[in-house]
Amino acid sequence: MIIENYRSIRQKVDDACRRAGRNPDSVTLIAVSKTKPVSMIEELLPEGVVDFGENKPQELKEKYDILPSNISWHMIGHLQRNKVKYVVGRAAMIHSLDSLRLAQAIDQEAARQMLRVPVLVEVNVAGEESKNGISPQETEAFIRQIAEFPNLEVRGLMTIAPFVKNPEENRVHFRNLFNLFVDIKAQNIDNISMCCLSMGMTNDYEIAVEEGATHVRVGTGIFGERDYSRL
Ligand SMILES: *Cc1c(COP(=O)(O)O)cnc(C)c1O
Repeated sequence: MIIENYRSIRQKVDDACRRAGRNPDSVTLIAVSKTKPVSMIEELLPEGVVDFGENKPQELKEKYDILPSNISWHMIGHLQRNKVKYVVGRAAMIHSLDSLRLAQAIDQEAARQMLRVPVLVEVNVAGEESKNGISPQETEAFIRQIAEFPNLEVRGLMTIAPFVKNPEENRVHFRNLFNLFVDIKAQNIDNISMCCLSMGMTNDYEIAVEEGATHVRVGTGIFGERDYSRL
C-alpha cells in the first residue's frame, strides 16, 4: 500500500515536471513520516527511498538512531533553540530556519560538532498570522545576515502554503516564492548557494512542481492520515 502510494505520487511528480518542461531528476520527493512508525518507513527502503521528513526533533533523533545511515533526514518543522542539539549532525537539511536566534544556535552547535549545516529559510508567503517564517519583503536582508554564520550553508527557501480547498489557490504563492528565489539567486551573495526550493504538500505538490519546486514534502498521500489522538 505505502509503496504503491509512493510510486503513484512519484509518477505524478514526474508528469508535472514534463508538463513544465523540467527534468524529473530535479525534484526530490520527501516522504514525510512524522507520527508514523519505523516499520512504515522500512517498507519504502527496498524501493530506494532515502529522503524522509520529520517535524519533531526527538522523533527525528529516535528514528535516525534506529534506521540505516544512508537515509537523508529533512527537518521540516518549527525548531526551538534548545532542541537544536538533536537535529544538528542528524538532519541532512533543516528546512525551517525562521529567526536569527535560531541561526545562531544552529551555527554554535555545528561549530561544536565541527560540521556545516545546510539550511533553508522558511518564508511566510501568504502573511498568515498562525505561521512561522520570514516575510517575503525581509527575506533577502535576512539571508544576507545568515550568510555571516560560518557553519551554516543557506541552500534556498521553503514555505508551507495556506490550507486551501482548491490547490490552484496556492499557485500564486508558489509562483511568488519562485520569483523571490530567482531574484535572490541572481544576487550571488557570498557563502550562499540558492539551489533548493521546498514547497508543496499532499494537497498541492503537483502545482508546486509546475511552479518550480525542487523538494516536495508529502506525508498523508504516502502514509495515510495521521492519528494525533494516540500521541
Ligand atoms: C506534515 C508536513 C508536511 C506533509 O503534509 P501532508 O499534507 O500530510 O502531505 C509537509 N510539510 C510540513 C512542514 C509538515 O509539517
